[in-house]
Amino acid sequence: MMGVLSKLSDWADGMYQKKVVKMEKLGKCPDCNGMGIPIMSYEHYYGSDYHCPGCNGSGLFEDWMK
Ligand SMILES: [Zn+2]
Repeated sequence: MMGVLSKLSDWADGMYQKKVVKMEKLGKCPDCNGMGIPIMSYEHYYGSDYHCPGCNGSGLFEDWMK
């Protein structure tokens, strides 16, 4: 069972790494897809000033790297 969980974790890590590489080429923050707000909070965006913690709301990959 632990082996399966480990494989799933590796798969998720691989997916995330692929996304990071893709977003780096686009110059966008991987956490928010360049939106500047967390993906999970899109539907609460209006009336909210909650910024993506990865890029501080800029949506830029270079800020996410810091
Ligand atoms: Zn971001």
